[in-house]
Amino acid sequence: MPTIIFRDDDTSYFTTPQRLETVYRRVWEAGRPVCLAVIPAVFGDTRVYWTDGNPHDPGIPPAFRGTSTCYSILDNRELCAFLNELAAAGLVEICLHGYTHTFYEFITHDRAVIHGKLDAGLALLERAFPAATIKTFIAPYDRLSPVALEQLIAGGFHICTMSLNLAPLPQLPRIQGYAAGTMKKGQMLYVCDDYLFTYKRKPAESLSLARAALAGNRLTIISNHYWMFFHPWRDEPNPRDFAAWNAFLDEVLGVDGPEVTSFSAYPGRASAAE
Ligand SMILES: [Zn+2]
Repeated sequence: MPTIIFRDDDTSYFTTPQRLETVYRRVWEAGRPVCLAVIPAVFGDTRVYWTDGNPHDPGIPPAFRGTSTCYSILDNRELCAFLNELAAAGLVEICLHGYTHTFYEFITHDRAVIHGKLDAGLALLERAFPAATIKTFIAPYDRLSPVALEQLIAGGFHICTMSLNLAPLPQLPRIQGYAAGTMKKGQMLYVCDDYLFTYKRKPAESLSLARAALAGNRLTIISNHYWMFFHPWRDEPNPRDFAAWNAFLDEVLGVDGPEVTSFSAYPGRASAAE
């Protein structure tokens, strides 16, 4: 039976329940979970350093771009209440998505810096989401140093990342594409090497790549950024991108559809299937 994990990055102080519901309402109504990579204290002047001119992070609303402030998830009470309810119902897994989500946040080799950010980020999310158990780490921009990887493993986290980050640690499972491997007993490594539903692709191409991924893999990780459906931060989703997403949901949420699980629930399901 093929399995899907839905992952969505960049939930933060700036995220409204309405935007998440627009994208995932159908998944939740079908009783299936979504893994949300949540930024504890997003920095307003986050820049994208792999793009010429270092533009602002498009996941931050235009009015807040360039502000030298960290915005705590705790201060968005409506969102915290909404996500605590979903977490208590088993419909979201809250994942730690860095601390402030700056570009190079976890590419450093400074153990004290990494340790401090993991501790502070986890503490903030645990205060914001008492109904959730936070076990999974997803790096901002998928940038992760070998030292950060080692510390995450020692810290007991499941990790979802791109396979290119794994080369410096040969003891890790050699997996790529969309896959899961075991790092230690009960502690999983997930790789997701492509983001399918993005405004940078034609919607029909996103849909056909998602179908092919599902047909060709035991586990497919569908990684989205909810804000991409609204890019550039419009009130309503882009109709063509949203139609492709809904066509995919039509195919996967039916009674004959794949299993949908989460990063923290997958190990039990995978071993039960063996
Ligand atoms: Zn992110």
